[in-house]
Amino acid sequence: MKKTTVTAPQLTAERLKGKSNQFFLTGVLSDFLKWGQSYSLWPYPFATACCGIEFMSTAAADFDIARFGAERPSFSPRQADMIIVLGTITYKMAPVLRHIYRQLADPKFVISVGACASSGGMFDSYSVLQGIDRILPVDVYIPGCPPRPEAILEALMLMQKKLRKQSIEDRRDEIKEKILQMEARNKPVIVE
Ligand code: SF4
Repeated sequence: MKKTTVTAPQLTAERLKGKSNQFFLTGVLSDFLKWGQSYSLWPYPFATACCGIEFMSTAAADFDIARFGAERPSFSPRQADMIIVLGTITYKMAPVLRHIYRQLADPKFVISVGACASSGGMFDSYSVLQGIDRILPVDVYIPGCPPRPEAILEALMLMQKKLRKQSIEDRRDEIKEKILQMEARNKPVIVE
């Protein structure tokens, strides 16, 4: 007897016969969950200086961050999963920022806004942290002094894209790698 093999698309086509007016979408559950997560990021704005004003503008009607599902700023780290650091961070503030990061809900994300947060900016002094990537695993950096609200929205879109593509295992590996880089960056320089 001749053996007939039915492939998955044929099977689907058979099932759909006579139901051409119905619309079907198929996919992987984890992709669907990540898509949902990417449009429901809850930001914790850690604003210490002028870049904070840009975030206020991004959240207000003209730029409307709600279009990207991130309109719910939280001032409790336990009800947020994305910290947006805006402004100069001093060494005195650094332990507080790190503490807040640890309290965020997992999986958590970090956006560094502007020159000050990303590199210390013009404040190359004894009291200013020269970039928050010395204490936090940063996902997206936004250049500028200050960056415009469009740049903050673009960073958010990049964050969403990254979130949708990355598996939980890849995310864990990336954080581990960034923590190693941080430790290397924070080693004291020994001059012999
Ligand atoms: S990057 Fe510029 S605008 Fe932003 S906090 Fe620093 S000085 Fe202010």
